[in-house]
Amino acid sequence: MRARSEAAERLENEGTLPREELVQLLTECDDPTLERLRGAARRTTLGRFGDGIYVRGLIEIGNVCRNDCLYCGIRRSNREAERYRLTSDEILGCCERGYALGLRTFVLQGGEDPSLGDGPLAELIAEIRRRWPDCAVTLSLGERSEASYERLFRAGATRYLLRHETADPELYAALHPGMSHARRLECLAALQRIGYQTGMGMMVGVPGQNAGTLADDLLLMERFRPEMIGIGPFLPQRQTPLGDAPAGSLRLTLLLLAILRLMHPAALIPATTALATLAPEGRNLGILSGANVVMPNLSPPAERKKYVLYDHKAAFGCEAAEGLAALDRELHAIGRRIDYGRGDYRG
Ligand code: SAH
Repeated sequence: MRARSEAAERLENEGTLPREELVQLLTECDDPTLERLRGAARRTTLGRFGDGIYVRGLIEIGNVCRNDCLYCGIRRSNREAERYRLTSDEILGCCERGYALGLRTFVLQGGEDPSLGDGPLAELIAEIRRRWPDCAVTLSLGERSEASYERLFRAGATRYLLRHETADPELYAALHPGMSHARRLECLAALQRIGYQTGMGMMVGVPGQNAGTLADDLLLMERFRPEMIGIGPFLPQRQTPLGDAPAGSLRLTLLLLAILRLMHPAALIPATTALATLAPEGRNLGILSGANVVMPNLSPPAERKKYVLYDHKAAFGCEAAEGLAALDRELHAIGRRIDYGRGDYRG
Protein backbone atom coordinates (compact mmCIF):
# COMPACT_ATOMS: atom_id res chain seq x y z
CA MET A 1 0.00 0.00 0.00
CA ARG A 2 2.68 2.40 1.12
CA ALA A 3 4.97 1.24 -1.69
CA ARG A 4 2.18 1.90 -4.20
CA SER A 5 1.51 5.45 -3.13
CA GLU A 6 5.23 6.16 -3.01
CA ALA A 7 5.60 4.87 -6.55
CA ALA A 8 2.71 7.09 -7.65
CA GLU A 9 4.31 10.08 -5.98
CA ARG A 10 7.64 9.40 -7.63
CA LEU A 11 6.01 9.04 -11.03
CA GLU A 12 4.31 12.41 -10.52
CA ASN A 13 7.50 14.13 -9.50
CA GLU A 14 10.05 12.47 -11.76
CA GLY A 15 8.00 11.39 -14.77
CA THR A 16 9.46 7.90 -14.76
CA LEU A 17 9.82 4.76 -12.67
CA PRO A 18 12.06 1.69 -12.78
CA ARG A 19 10.57 -1.34 -14.52
CA GLU A 20 9.77 -3.32 -11.40
CA GLU A 21 7.82 -0.42 -9.91
CA LEU A 22 5.88 0.03 -13.14
CA VAL A 23 4.99 -3.67 -13.03
CA GLN A 24 3.88 -3.31 -9.45
CA LEU A 25 1.75 -0.28 -10.23
CA LEU A 26 0.14 -2.09 -13.15
CA THR A 27 -0.68 -5.17 -11.10
CA GLU A 28 -1.57 -3.75 -7.70
CA CYS A 29 -2.84 -0.23 -8.20
CA ASP A 30 -5.73 0.29 -5.77
CA ASP A 31 -8.55 2.74 -6.38
CA PRO A 32 -7.12 5.65 -4.35
CA THR A 33 -3.79 5.35 -6.18
CA LEU A 34 -5.54 5.20 -9.54
CA GLU A 35 -7.56 8.31 -8.72
CA ARG A 36 -4.47 10.08 -7.52
CA LEU A 37 -2.60 9.31 -10.75
CA ARG A 38 -5.58 10.32 -12.89
CA GLY A 39 -5.81 13.60 -10.98
CA ALA A 40 -2.12 14.30 -11.47
CA ALA A 41 -2.38 13.44 -15.18
CA ARG A 42 -5.40 15.73 -15.52
CA ARG A 43 -3.56 18.62 -13.88
CA THR A 44 -0.51 18.05 -16.10
CA THR A 45 -2.73 18.11 -19.20
CA LEU A 46 -4.58 21.25 -18.10
CA GLY A 47 -1.29 22.97 -17.28
CA ARG A 48 0.14 22.24 -20.74
CA PHE A 49 -2.89 22.53 -22.96
CA GLY A 50 -5.54 24.40 -20.98
CA ASP A 51 -9.13 23.23 -21.37
CA GLY A 52 -8.91 22.65 -25.15
CA ILE A 53 -9.22 19.21 -26.72
CA TYR A 54 -7.81 18.86 -30.23
CA VAL A 55 -9.93 17.18 -32.90
CA ARG A 56 -8.63 15.24 -35.94
CA GLY A 57 -10.78 14.12 -38.83
CA LEU A 58 -10.23 10.39 -39.34
CA ILE A 59 -10.59 9.24 -42.94
CA GLU A 60 -10.49 5.47 -43.34
CA ILE A 61 -9.19 5.40 -46.89
CA GLY A 62 -9.43 1.65 -47.47
CA ASN A 63 -9.58 -1.74 -45.78
CA VAL A 64 -7.56 -3.81 -48.25
CA CYS A 65 -4.63 -5.26 -46.28
CA ARG A 66 -1.77 -7.63 -47.02
CA ASN A 67 -1.20 -8.39 -43.34
CA ASP A 68 -2.90 -10.98 -41.18
CA CYS A 69 -2.82 -9.51 -37.67
CA LEU A 70 -4.67 -11.93 -35.41
CA TYR A 71 -6.77 -9.25 -33.70
CA CYS A 72 -7.79 -7.16 -36.66
CA GLY A 73 -11.07 -7.47 -38.57
CA ILE A 74 -9.58 -6.31 -41.88
CA ARG A 75 -6.84 -8.96 -41.83
CA ARG A 76 -6.19 -10.56 -45.17
CA SER A 77 -7.67 -13.94 -44.17
CA ASN A 78 -11.04 -12.45 -43.28
CA ARG A 79 -13.00 -13.46 -46.38
CA GLU A 80 -16.15 -11.94 -44.93
CA ALA A 81 -14.76 -8.41 -44.84
CA GLU A 82 -16.33 -6.29 -47.56
CA ARG A 83 -13.33 -4.59 -49.11
CA TYR A 84 -13.27 -1.01 -50.37
CA ARG A 85 -10.86 1.70 -51.44
CA LEU A 86 -11.76 5.38 -51.45
CA THR A 87 -10.74 7.27 -54.59
CA SER A 88 -8.65 10.42 -54.30
CA ASP A 89 -11.74 12.45 -55.15
CA GLU A 90 -13.71 10.79 -52.37
CA ILE A 91 -10.90 11.51 -49.90
CA LEU A 92 -10.72 15.14 -51.02
CA GLY A 93 -14.51 15.28 -50.57
CA CYS A 94 -14.07 14.12 -46.97
CA CYS A 95 -11.47 16.83 -46.38
CA GLU A 96 -13.78 19.45 -47.84
CA ARG A 97 -16.58 18.36 -45.53
CA GLY A 98 -14.20 18.24 -42.59
CA TYR A 99 -12.75 21.67 -43.31
CA ALA A 100 -16.25 23.18 -43.37
CA LEU A 101 -16.88 21.58 -39.97
CA GLY A 102 -13.76 23.25 -38.61
CA LEU A 103 -11.30 20.36 -38.67
CA ARG A 104 -7.67 21.29 -39.39
CA THR A 105 -6.02 17.85 -39.29
CA PHE A 106 -6.87 15.01 -41.62
CA VAL A 107 -5.73 11.53 -40.67
CA LEU A 108 -5.54 9.12 -43.60
CA GLN A 109 -5.72 5.63 -42.15
CA GLY A 110 -6.01 2.26 -43.83
CA GLY A 111 -4.79 -1.25 -44.28
CA GLU A 112 -1.46 -1.99 -45.94
CA ASP A 113 -2.78 -1.99 -49.47
CA PRO A 114 -0.01 -2.99 -51.91
CA SER A 115 -1.74 -1.04 -54.66
CA LEU A 116 -1.45 2.20 -52.69
CA GLY A 117 1.55 3.52 -54.60
CA ASP A 118 3.78 6.39 -53.55
CA GLY A 119 3.01 8.45 -56.65
CA PRO A 120 -0.77 8.73 -56.30
CA LEU A 121 -0.51 9.03 -52.51
CA ALA A 122 2.08 11.83 -52.72
CA GLU A 123 -0.11 13.58 -55.29
CA LEU A 124 -3.15 13.30 -53.01
CA ILE A 125 -1.23 14.65 -50.01
CA ALA A 126 0.10 17.56 -52.06
CA GLU A 127 -3.40 18.33 -53.32
CA ILE A 128 -4.80 18.37 -49.77
CA ARG A 129 -2.04 20.78 -48.75
CA ARG A 130 -2.67 22.96 -51.83
CA ARG A 131 -6.40 23.24 -51.20
CA TRP A 132 -6.21 23.59 -47.42
CA PRO A 133 -2.74 24.95 -46.63
CA ASP A 134 -3.64 25.59 -43.01
CA CYS A 135 -4.30 21.88 -42.40
CA ALA A 136 -2.01 19.08 -41.27
CA VAL A 137 -2.00 15.65 -42.91
CA THR A 138 -1.37 12.65 -40.67
CA LEU A 139 -0.77 9.22 -42.18
CA SER A 140 -1.55 5.85 -40.59
CA LEU A 141 -0.84 3.41 -43.38
CA GLY A 142 1.45 0.90 -41.73
CA GLU A 143 4.92 -0.18 -42.77
CA ARG A 144 6.45 1.31 -45.91
CA SER A 145 10.03 1.80 -47.06
CA GLU A 146 12.05 4.71 -45.75
CA ALA A 147 12.11 6.11 -49.31
CA SER A 148 8.33 6.01 -49.36
CA TYR A 149 8.02 7.72 -45.96
CA GLU A 150 10.45 10.34 -47.22
CA ARG A 151 8.52 11.00 -50.41
CA LEU A 152 5.22 11.35 -48.53
CA PHE A 153 6.86 13.72 -46.07
CA ARG A 154 8.14 15.88 -48.91
CA ALA A 155 4.64 15.88 -50.39
CA GLY A 156 3.41 17.51 -47.19
CA ALA A 157 2.48 14.84 -44.63
CA THR A 158 4.05 15.83 -41.31
CA ARG A 159 2.71 13.25 -38.87
CA TYR A 160 2.64 9.45 -38.90
CA LEU A 161 0.87 7.03 -36.58
CA LEU A 162 2.46 3.60 -36.34
CA ARG A 163 1.69 1.84 -33.11
CA HIS A 164 4.50 -0.43 -32.00
CA GLU A 165 1.67 -2.78 -30.79
CA THR A 166 3.87 -4.56 -28.22
CA ALA A 167 7.42 -4.26 -26.97
CA ASP A 168 7.72 -8.03 -26.69
CA PRO A 169 9.28 -9.40 -29.90
CA GLU A 170 7.82 -12.89 -29.38
CA LEU A 171 4.31 -11.65 -28.70
CA TYR A 172 4.70 -9.32 -31.67
CA ALA A 173 5.57 -12.25 -33.93
CA ALA A 174 2.69 -14.34 -32.57
CA LEU A 175 0.13 -11.58 -33.20
CA HIS A 176 1.51 -10.56 -36.60
CA PRO A 177 2.28 -13.58 -38.81
CA GLY A 178 5.13 -12.85 -41.16
CA MET A 179 5.98 -9.53 -39.56
CA SER A 180 8.84 -8.62 -37.24
CA HIS A 181 9.21 -6.38 -34.26
CA ALA A 182 12.67 -5.33 -35.40
CA ARG A 183 11.24 -4.08 -38.68
CA ARG A 184 8.48 -2.21 -36.84
CA LEU A 185 11.07 -0.37 -34.77
CA GLU A 186 13.14 0.35 -37.89
CA CYS A 187 10.09 1.96 -39.46
CA LEU A 188 9.56 4.08 -36.35
CA ALA A 189 13.21 5.13 -36.33
CA ALA A 190 12.98 6.05 -40.02
CA LEU A 191 9.88 8.17 -39.41
CA GLN A 192 11.66 10.01 -36.63
CA ARG A 193 14.81 10.52 -38.71
CA ILE A 194 12.78 12.02 -41.53
CA GLY A 195 11.18 14.48 -39.15
CA TYR A 196 7.61 13.24 -38.81
CA GLN A 197 5.76 13.86 -35.58
CA THR A 198 5.50 10.19 -34.79
CA GLY A 199 2.83 8.23 -32.95
CA MET A 200 3.32 4.95 -31.09
CA GLY A 201 1.11 2.89 -28.85
CA MET A 202 -0.51 -0.42 -28.14
CA MET A 203 -3.79 -2.09 -27.35
CA VAL A 204 -4.56 -2.82 -23.72
CA GLY A 205 -5.56 -6.39 -22.94
CA VAL A 206 -4.61 -8.12 -26.16
CA PRO A 207 -4.22 -11.87 -25.44
CA GLY A 208 -0.66 -12.74 -24.40
CA GLN A 209 0.04 -9.34 -22.88
CA ASN A 210 0.82 -8.98 -19.17
CA ALA A 211 2.04 -6.34 -16.72
CA GLY A 212 5.64 -7.08 -17.70
CA THR A 213 5.06 -6.52 -21.41
CA LEU A 214 3.05 -3.36 -20.62
CA ALA A 215 5.90 -2.02 -18.50
CA ASP A 216 8.21 -2.73 -21.43
CA ASP A 217 5.79 -0.84 -23.70
CA LEU A 218 6.06 2.16 -21.38
CA LEU A 219 9.85 1.96 -21.33
CA LEU A 220 10.07 1.52 -25.11
CA MET A 221 8.03 4.69 -25.59
CA GLU A 222 10.17 6.45 -23.03
CA ARG A 223 13.16 5.60 -25.21
CA PHE A 224 11.54 6.74 -28.48
CA ARG A 225 9.80 9.81 -27.03
CA PRO A 226 6.96 9.86 -29.58
CA GLU A 227 5.03 13.09 -30.09
CA MET A 228 1.74 11.16 -30.16
CA ILE A 229 0.64 8.12 -28.17
CA GLY A 230 -2.45 6.11 -29.06
CA ILE A 231 -3.70 3.42 -26.72
CA GLY A 232 -7.09 1.79 -26.43
CA PRO A 233 -8.59 -1.46 -25.20
CA PHE A 234 -8.33 -4.58 -27.34
CA LEU A 235 -11.84 -5.34 -28.63
CA PRO A 236 -12.62 -8.73 -30.15
CA GLN A 237 -13.79 -8.97 -33.76
CA ARG A 238 -15.78 -12.15 -34.23
CA GLN A 239 -14.34 -13.07 -37.64
CA THR A 240 -10.77 -13.13 -36.31
CA PRO A 241 -8.84 -15.86 -34.44
CA LEU A 242 -9.12 -13.73 -31.27
CA GLY A 243 -12.86 -13.25 -31.69
CA ASP A 244 -13.72 -15.06 -28.45
CA ALA A 245 -11.12 -13.34 -26.29
CA PRO A 246 -12.35 -10.87 -23.66
CA ALA A 247 -12.07 -7.13 -24.29
CA GLY A 248 -9.37 -5.13 -22.55
CA SER A 249 -10.21 -3.45 -19.27
CA LEU A 250 -11.42 0.12 -18.94
CA ARG A 251 -9.66 0.58 -15.62
CA LEU A 252 -6.28 -0.59 -16.90
CA THR A 253 -6.62 1.61 -19.99
CA LEU A 254 -7.31 4.66 -17.80
CA LEU A 255 -4.39 3.81 -15.53
CA LEU A 256 -2.07 3.53 -18.54
CA LEU A 257 -3.34 6.82 -19.96
CA ALA A 258 -2.56 8.53 -16.67
CA ILE A 259 0.91 6.97 -16.45
CA LEU A 260 1.65 7.91 -20.06
CA ARG A 261 0.58 11.51 -19.50
CA LEU A 262 2.90 11.76 -16.50
CA MET A 263 5.76 10.23 -18.50
CA HIS A 264 5.06 12.40 -21.59
CA PRO A 265 3.67 15.75 -20.44
CA ALA A 266 3.71 17.33 -23.92
CA ALA A 267 2.48 14.36 -25.95
CA LEU A 268 -0.71 14.39 -27.98
CA ILE A 269 -2.77 11.53 -26.56
CA PRO A 270 -6.19 10.66 -27.98
CA ALA A 271 -9.16 9.24 -26.15
CA THR A 272 -9.50 6.59 -28.85
CA THR A 273 -12.56 5.27 -30.65
CA ALA A 274 -11.89 1.87 -29.07
CA LEU A 275 -12.16 3.43 -25.62
CA ALA A 276 -15.42 5.16 -26.58
CA THR A 277 -16.66 1.83 -27.97
CA LEU A 278 -15.80 -0.11 -24.81
CA ALA A 279 -17.82 2.08 -22.44
CA PRO A 280 -20.42 4.82 -22.88
CA GLU A 281 -18.36 7.18 -20.74
CA GLY A 282 -15.05 5.98 -22.19
CA ARG A 283 -14.14 9.16 -24.04
CA ASN A 284 -14.77 11.45 -21.08
CA LEU A 285 -13.01 9.12 -18.67
CA GLY A 286 -10.02 9.04 -21.02
CA ILE A 287 -9.92 12.81 -21.14
CA LEU A 288 -10.17 12.93 -17.36
CA SER A 289 -7.15 10.58 -17.24
CA GLY A 290 -4.87 12.78 -19.34
CA ALA A 291 -5.99 12.41 -22.97
CA ASN A 292 -6.24 15.64 -24.97
CA VAL A 293 -7.25 14.60 -28.50
CA VAL A 294 -10.38 13.12 -30.08
CA MET A 295 -10.49 11.73 -33.62
CA PRO A 296 -14.04 12.01 -35.00
CA ASN A 297 -14.81 9.79 -37.96
CA LEU A 298 -14.87 11.67 -41.26
CA SER A 299 -15.15 8.67 -43.61
CA PRO A 300 -18.18 8.42 -45.90
CA PRO A 301 -20.87 6.79 -43.69
CA ALA A 302 -21.22 3.71 -45.94
CA GLU A 303 -17.51 2.92 -45.59
CA ARG A 304 -17.39 3.49 -41.83
CA LYS A 305 -19.34 0.27 -41.43
CA LYS A 306 -16.85 -1.67 -43.56
CA TYR A 307 -13.75 -0.51 -41.70
CA VAL A 308 -14.34 -3.04 -38.93
CA LEU A 309 -11.12 -3.48 -36.96
CA TYR A 310 -13.32 -4.64 -34.06
CA ASP A 311 -17.03 -5.22 -33.51
CA HIS A 312 -19.57 -2.51 -32.56
CA LYS A 313 -17.21 0.34 -33.52
CA ALA A 314 -18.50 3.75 -32.41
CA ALA A 315 -18.51 5.84 -35.61
CA PHE A 316 -21.56 8.02 -35.28
CA GLY A 317 -22.82 10.62 -32.79
CA CYS A 318 -19.96 12.16 -30.84
CA GLU A 319 -17.45 9.89 -32.59
CA ALA A 320 -18.40 11.36 -35.98
CA ALA A 321 -17.30 14.60 -37.59
CA GLU A 322 -20.95 15.57 -38.08
CA GLY A 323 -21.37 15.22 -34.31
CA LEU A 324 -18.84 17.91 -33.36
CA ALA A 325 -21.49 20.11 -31.75
CA ALA A 326 -22.63 17.18 -29.60
CA LEU A 327 -19.01 16.36 -28.78
CA ASP A 328 -18.43 19.94 -27.69
CA ARG A 329 -21.47 19.77 -25.41
CA GLU A 330 -20.16 16.55 -23.84
CA LEU A 331 -16.77 18.14 -23.34
CA HIS A 332 -18.34 21.17 -21.67
CA ALA A 333 -19.98 18.83 -19.17
CA ILE A 334 -16.47 17.93 -17.94
CA GLY A 335 -15.10 21.48 -18.15
CA ARG A 336 -13.43 21.10 -21.55
CA ARG A 337 -14.09 22.35 -25.07
CA ILE A 338 -12.98 21.65 -28.61
CA ASP A 339 -9.79 23.42 -29.69
CA TYR A 340 -10.02 23.85 -33.46
CA GLY A 341 -6.31 24.58 -33.88
CA ARG A 342 -3.98 22.33 -35.91
CA GLY A 343 -2.54 21.15 -32.64
CA ASP A 344 1.04 20.41 -33.64
CA TYR A 345 3.40 19.00 -31.04
CA ARG A 346 5.11 21.63 -28.95
CA GLY A 347 7.80 20.02 -26.84
N1 SAH B 1 -2.56 -0.51 -40.95
C1 SAH B 1 -2.22 0.61 -40.11
C2 SAH B 1 -3.39 1.11 -39.32
C3 SAH B 1 -3.87 0.10 -38.35
S1 SAH B 1 -5.42 0.41 -37.59
C4 SAH B 1 -1.06 0.21 -39.24
O1 SAH B 1 -0.61 -0.91 -39.31
O2 SAH B 1 -0.58 1.05 -38.49
C5 SAH B 1 -4.94 1.32 -36.19
C6 SAH B 1 -4.82 0.54 -34.89
O3 SAH B 1 -6.02 -0.11 -34.55
C7 SAH B 1 -3.81 -0.58 -34.87
O4 SAH B 1 -2.53 -0.07 -34.70
C8 SAH B 1 -4.28 -1.45 -33.70
O5 SAH B 1 -3.54 -1.19 -32.53
C9 SAH B 1 -5.75 -1.03 -33.53
N2 SAH B 1 -6.62 -2.20 -33.64
C10 SAH B 1 -6.67 -3.13 -34.63
N3 SAH B 1 -7.52 -4.12 -34.30
C11 SAH B 1 -8.03 -3.82 -33.09
C12 SAH B 1 -8.91 -4.49 -32.20
N4 SAH B 1 -9.46 -5.66 -32.50
N5 SAH B 1 -9.20 -3.88 -31.01
C13 SAH B 1 -8.66 -2.69 -30.70
N6 SAH B 1 -7.79 -2.04 -31.48
C14 SAH B 1 -7.47 -2.60 -32.67
